[in-house]
Amino acid sequence: MAKIVCVLYDDPVTGYPKSYPRGGLPLLQKYPDGQSLPTPERVDFEPGTLLGSVSGELGLRKFLESQGHKLVVTSDKDGSNSVLDRELSDAEIVISQPFWPAYMTKERIAKASNLKLIVTAGIGSDHTDLKAAMEKNITVAEVTYCNSISVAEHVVMMILGLVRNYIPSYQWVVKGGWNIADCAARSYDIEGMTVGTVAAGRIGLAVLRRLKPFDVKLHYTDKHRLSAEVEKELGLTYHPSVESLVACCDVVTINCPLHPETEHLFNETLINKMKYGAYLVNTARGKICDRDAIAKALESGKLAGYAGDVWFPQPAPKDHPWRTMPHHGMTPHISGTTLSAQARYAAGVREILECWFAKKPIRNEYLIVDKGKLAGTGKHSYTEGNATKGSEEAAKFST
Ligand code: NDP
Repeated sequence: MAKIVCVLYDDPVTGYPKSYPRGGLPLLQKYPDGQSLPTPERVDFEPGTLLGSVSGELGLRKFLESQGHKLVVTSDKDGSNSVLDRELSDAEIVISQPFWPAYMTKERIAKASNLKLIVTAGIGSDHTDLKAAMEKNITVAEVTYCNSISVAEHVVMMILGLVRNYIPSYQWVVKGGWNIADCAARSYDIEGMTVGTVAAGRIGLAVLRRLKPFDVKLHYTDKHRLSAEVEKELGLTYHPSVESLVACCDVVTINCPLHPETEHLFNETLINKMKYGAYLVNTARGKICDRDAIAKALESGKLAGYAGDVWFPQPAPKDHPWRTMPHHGMTPHISGTTLSAQARYAAGVREILECWFAKKPIRNEYLIVDKGKLAGTGKHSYTEGNATKGSEEAAKFST
């Protein structure tokens, strides 16, 4: 029987919810490209409840214990005396969410001699040292598509929030003011602006589709070009390089995975190639941007605004400069963990575990690493190497 260690974020400070603002979730039939939603044999949770926090347990306990497995759920993931570190030595499976990542470093993987499967309850397995997983023949899987649309909605919200100066205007109201000039002095329409996405995968394409009705000029760069029909339908301009994309955009949104090719892509050199007063929205991964270069660009006015929900490390330390830099619209890492998204990725994790225990193949689109190689979605979107560098420090850092 297997031991499963599941690392989840803490419950709300007010305790695990007893009620929710809405009664349930809309029923979706499939993802926009036709991919089917998760297909576990059954689930033991109510969609629309909080599943991603410790007490929610991703709805897995009944299923796992009924089969004789041991489930350990904890939020204590960093520092050498963390529950995660203490429980790793005989764990067969580790599950965590990118919002509260269990940094599966080479060091941790070496200690976990029984580890065979690492599951990302969400999308983006960069918190796992994929190279080390390949060397140890550990399968890495994630729930592809589960929260791509959730993030795309968040990106549109953040672009509008920055360009229209929403957050400072909201704060004037809360402070009791009626400071219209203060609010308006940094507020624009996006109509007519040039908006570009770095990557037009599931999230990037969904962002482009959602922005189309705003009458903006849509640009993108990606490793693989979209079809001519999609380019025509959305009126897209393709750029073979990120440098040429950023040079003409008023707004840039980052929607690629973090892997060796994209780590610190937005450094001082690339930011200097952007238009003066551009906006940058990054909901992909914190390490795709150089932390200090972003803060400096906001202070100098080179960037008019920066928003996103991804940081490095996570949770971000109290003194992380992105908490206090000017003109930012940062949130904690939340865009992909709406109650709607949680229902999908909890079901997806259950599907992956059902396949694992029944020795049935895991869906190809869920695979990142398998049989010692990049596989499935991992093979398509990642590059070999380790973008987890620095996670050794993050994993040792305890808040
Ligand atoms: P997809 O795999 O559908 O899309 C990723 C796209 O990035 C692919 O089109 C891929 O290209 C492209 N890409 C990879 N490397 C580069 C590069 N160097 N330059 C340009 N494009 C590149 O994934 P999703 O759209 O669903 O998710 C993207 C990322 O968003 C995730 O990896 C994750 O990091 C982040 N994410 C964040 C969440 C949040 O809560 N904030 C939640 C979910 C995801 P191709 O396939 O053509 O090779």
